Amino acid sequence: MPKLASYNGKVDSIENIKVSPMSRAFLFSDSVYEVISFYKNKFIDFETHLDRLKHSLNETKISCSIEECKTEIVKLLNESKFEDGYIYYQVSRGVDSIRSHFAEESDCERFGFIEEFSFFNQSPLKVMLVDDIRWQRCDIKSTSLLGNVLQMNDAKSVGCNEILMHKNGELTEGGASNIFFVKNKTIFTPELSPNILPGITRHQVIKIIKDQKLNFEEGSYGIDDLKEASSIWFTSTTKGILGVEEIVNLETKINTECELLEICKNAFVKRYFS
Ligand code: PLP
Repeated sequence: MPKLASYNGKVDSIENIKVSPMSRAFLFSDSVYEVISFYKNKFIDFETHLDRLKHSLNETKISCSIEECKTEIVKLLNESKFEDGYIYYQVSRGVDSIRSHFAEESDCERFGFIEEFSFFNQSPLKVMLVDDIRWQRCDIKSTSLLGNVLQMNDAKSVGCNEILMHKNGELTEGGASNIFFVKNKTIFTPELSPNILPGITRHQVIKIIKDQKLNFEEGSYGIDDLKEASSIWFTSTTKGILGVEEIVNLETKINTECELLEICKNAFVKRYFS
């Protein structure tokens, strides 16, 4: 079945959507995006995703009505027959008449598609520790993901399905996820900064950790912390909470049967997927 997509408010099969090569998304990656999951036809934390989209639009000074985005995302879900899945939705600064870094005064350009997806039974991750070579505003959910793409494809070539990034030895996040680790029965995660995306799932997991009254710390951590960690988790809208089974280029003490991971996973499924 062809994928259903939305382009500037019009829903159609993805093959029928025509995008100009003068789109600033195509030429400059001058665009921001969201990935929003739905389960049993209902969005998960929709308003929080819209707030983050608004933050990305504000920080990049892309002018676009968030209400219009909301209407288009809802329409895409309503017109699909999928029960469980996610919507990818991006907003670019617009389509220009000439290629120039200096943008013209044009209307924003909006594109999204819907994908069926099952959130359960995902396998533990095999990851590679890599240098974080990205720009200095990773808190903006920009489609400019070349730093992530290059490192993730290197990792894929050695059999990995995620990367774990560090900036000068300080842990930041995954290529498409946030990270948590357990050491001495405490759960740790890198604190929010311009170097990491404020993940919606990260936020959900922190709420669960606090509700469950588990030992928890947010701060600045290094590679030595990983070496001592008994468990490492990645979180994202499509992964939920997923454990790591191996870091291919680092010797660790990971034990895949982590009680704290099970507590958080069970509470997460109960809260968002039941
Ligand atoms: N960090 C990066 C770089 C990401 O690309 C993502 C998701 O795509 C996340 C973290 C997790 O964010 P969320 O939980 O909102 O999906």
